Amino acid sequence: MESESVCAFKDVFQNKISELRFKVNSCSITNEENYEQIVKEVMETKNKTKKTSLDYRRLKRYDILTVGTITKLIVPLHRSNNNEVKYFVHNDEIFDILKTAHIETGHGGLHKVHDVVKYKYAHIA
Ligand SMILES: [Zn+2]
Repeated sequence: MESESVCAFKDVFQNKISELRFKVNSCSITNEENYEQIVKEVMETKNKTKKTSLDYRRLKRYDILTVGTITKLIVPLHRSNNNEVKYFVHNDEIFDILKTAHIETGHGGLHKVHDVVKYKYAHIA
């Protein structure tokens, strides 16, 4: 097993992180505060009895999944390919997600990591 000091992850990934084609568009979630705000909006929208067209647009883009006390923002299941849960992430989380995937793939390279995360997360394309 590779020790933390030997693991090349930090160098390799911090330098190459921008090479991953993160979607930079209107869906981009910049930080945790932004993420929590969207979660709150989706929750409120789902509970509304009279929905506006903006509400419908929001629900077409986002859904929420609550496990215990944690609520996550996900791609609505009817829009995912095989009904698998695909999570939205905010930009502050991306490095940690890549790092975890790198370790889970047995210190896999960028392409291997990319293959793993692209199915699980909405913003890493
Ligand atoms: Zn490593």
